[in-house]
Amino acid sequence: MTTTRKIIHLDLDAFFCAVEEQRDPSLVGKPFAVGGKPEERGVVASCSYAARQRGVRSAMPMVHALRLCPNLTIVPARHRVYEHISQQVMEIIHRLTPQVEQISIDEAFLDVTGIDLPLRQIASQLQADIYQQLGLPASLGGATNKLVAKIATDVGKAANRSDKPPMAITIVPPGDEAAFLGPLPVQALWGVGPKTAARLKLLNIEKVGDLAARSEQEMVELFGKHGYDLVIHARGIDDRPIITQHQIKSISQEVTFTKDIRDLRLLESALLELSESVGRRLKEEKLKGSTVKIKLRWPSFVTVTRQVTLTQATDQEQIIFETAKHLFHKLWEPEQAVRLIGVGVSGFYRETRQLSFWDLQTEKDRTLQQAIENLQHKFGKQAVQRGAQTTTIRTHSAKRPN
Ligand SMILES: [Mg+2]
Repeated sequence: MTTTRKIIHLDLDAFFCAVEEQRDPSLVGKPFAVGGKPEERGVVASCSYAARQRGVRSAMPMVHALRLCPNLTIVPARHRVYEHISQQVMEIIHRLTPQVEQISIDEAFLDVTGIDLPLRQIASQLQADIYQQLGLPASLGGATNKLVAKIATDVGKAANRSDKPPMAITIVPPGDEAAFLGPLPVQALWGVGPKTAARLKLLNIEKVGDLAARSEQEMVELFGKHGYDLVIHARGIDDRPIITQHQIKSISQEVTFTKDIRDLRLLESALLELSESVGRRLKEEKLKGSTVKIKLRWPSFVTVTRQVTLTQATDQEQIIFETAKHLFHKLWEPEQAVRLIGVGVSGFYRETRQLSFWDLQTEKDRTLQQAIENLQHKFGKQAVQRGAQTTTIRTHSAKRPN
């Protein structure tokens, strides 16, 4: 028999807004949204609970949000600050267990099977730690698997009707998964979008419980392999493991401009900022990568990428930037408008921290990196060894890797 797992899903409550309320306490209780200006095709990145009560939602165009809530205060986003605070949250979580899968800037799964305390107690303690140490409200869900834990968080949050953060904790005990999911609409499940929901409705399947009652065979006939997953998930079964950072394949950052950009200086400064951000994350993850990649999207939505392999794995912003710039100029013609620009690093090896031998090795590597960096400053492109080059053309936007 396998042990019953204890999985927690944590989601900060209106994270960007909570950070902005700390900067400006006069925002507390007011309807406000963090995001871009309406005249620049801005969207709502996060909105306060008072704004949510008026129907404002994240990812909504700011123009629409203002129509719903004319007295909405718009606060510009400070992504670097959010990233920094997010790391502090993740540090608190990592003190509890190394089994952490961060799924976005403000969301993570934790496997706390090894902690011999009731799930609710572990969740309350973690919520209190984050609130006391960083002043940030969070909602948590606990269950025997990721699917049910995540839905538990969503259900806890959705029950909130007030203009304050929910700070919900919802625990689904082992064995209660199917009963918990049963009354929820099928859209609560991962992979059920409006299209699938519409098809299910034609089959008289509206609740998760309706789906759970169908045979696997019937659903496979109708939906293929996805049909099998649907039924299994509807019954509250999900054995996907927590994927920790050790399995990170690449680290990348990209930015979509509010207006298409043709100015070389602006494009290069975006490249620099992205390279710095990627370098910072590499250092935090104690990773060095030997492949640097850039991605450009034209106003036509055609996306092109290019990559090179360096002679030495790096986590140094300057090397990433110089390499990205070199790649950029292979793809970009002067005056060409750019809609999105991205920088990524992959091809990792990980520093092993436990052994002092490796620490010494790391020190040596750093000296080498410095030497390469200096060389690069002097000779530019020549210090970069060209590797395999690939050009991918996609007609739709690519998913951002986690
Ligand atoms: Mg959140």
